[in-house]
Amino acid sequence: MKLLHQLVRKNILELSPYSSAREEFSGNADIFLDANENPFGRYHRYPDPYQKQLKLEVAALKKIPQDQIFVGNGSDEAIDLLFRIFCNPGKDKALTFTPTYGMYKVSAQINEVTWIELPLNSSHQIDYRLFAPYCEDKHLKLVFLCSPNNPTGNLLDRKLLIQILTHFRGMVVIDEAYIDFSEEESCLRLLHEYPNLVVLQTLSKAWGQAGLRIGFAYAHKEVIGFFNKVKPPYNVSTSNQEMALRAIRDPDTFMKNRAVILSERDRLQQALAQIPNVEAIFPSEANFLLVQFKNAAFIYQTLVQRKIIVRDRSAQIKNTLRITIGTPEENKKLIQTLQQIS
Ligand SMILES: *Cc1c(COP(=O)(O)O)cnc(C)c1O
Repeated sequence: MKLLHQLVRKNILELSPYSSAREEFSGNADIFLDANENPFGRYHRYPDPYQKQLKLEVAALKKIPQDQIFVGNGSDEAIDLLFRIFCNPGKDKALTFTPTYGMYKVSAQINEVTWIELPLNSSHQIDYRLFAPYCEDKHLKLVFLCSPNNPTGNLLDRKLLIQILTHFRGMVVIDEAYIDFSEEESCLRLLHEYPNLVVLQTLSKAWGQAGLRIGFAYAHKEVIGFFNKVKPPYNVSTSNQEMALRAIRDPDTFMKNRAVILSERDRLQQALAQIPNVEAIFPSEANFLLVQFKNAAFIYQTLVQRKIIVRDRSAQIKNTLRITIGTPEENKKLIQTLQQIS
C-alpha cells in the first residue's frame, strides 16, 4: 500500500524487529531449551507473542481476518503504538474533537507530537468545516474519533466519520470502547473500504475485564504488520490471554450483564430527571451518563463524603458529573443519596 509507506516513520519502515525465541521456532517440539526459561512452574514459558488462539476466536466473533487484528495491553497500548509508528517526534501532528478521552493527548505529549483540538458542536457532533482545512496538512498523521464518545456518551454521526475517512490522507482512528452498549453497528465493516482506518475496541467495558488489560486494534493487514514490528515481543501475558479467551467464550454472561446495564441506564436516567438539582442528562449510548447539575462541585464532594465516587467532568463541560452505571443496588443507593442531598 503506497499511501502507508508515505505515512509510516522512516525508522519504523526500516526497523528490523527483535526476533524472540518463540518467533524463531514456533512449531511443536518435545524439549524447549531456547529461551532461557526455567523448566519448572505453571507460567514458566514466555507467552505466544502473537496471541494466535485469542486472535483465532476473536476473528470468528468479529468476522474479521486474523491478520487484521492486533491485541494490546489495553487499547492504551494501541494508542501509544499508533504515535510511535506514524508520528515523528517534534515534527508531526495529531488531532481530535473535544471533549473526549484524555489518553490521546497524553500519548501525543509523551511522543512529542503537536496536539490539535477542535471543539465538538453544542450537540457534541463533529463540525466538518472546522476539519476541512487540515485535510491537506502533510504533517497531520492521526485523527482520533471516539464513538460513542467519552465523556459525552453520544455516537458521532457516521456520515461525518466517512467524510473524514474519504478526504483525509492520514490515519483515522475510531475508538469504539463503548460500541457494544450502542444500537449502532461497529465501523469494522468499513475496514475493507478504507485502508487508513483503525478501529479500537477493548475487553475493559462491555466485556467487564478492565483488570485484564486487553485491547484490540483492527486495521489493514499492513498496518497490523507495523504494530507487530513495534510492540514489545511479549506484550500480553499468558494468564491474560487465557482469561481473555475464557471471557469471550462466555457470550451469555456478556449479553446478560449488558442487558442489565442498559436497562439500568434507562432507569437511572428517569430517576435522575426527577431530581431538582439536575439540569440536563445527555443522551448516552455508553455505560455512563453525563449529567449537568446546578452545582456539580458540591454534589461531587457530598457524594464523596457518603463514599460514592463519580467523575467530575466540569473542567470539560460546565457543572457535569460522569456517572458510570453500576449494579441495580449501587444505582439505587446513588439515587437515594442524590434525593437526600437535593
Ligand atoms: C475505557 C476506554 C478505553 C479502554 O482502554 P483500555 O486500555 O482498553 O482499558 C479506550 N478508549 C476510551 C474512550 C475509553 O473510555
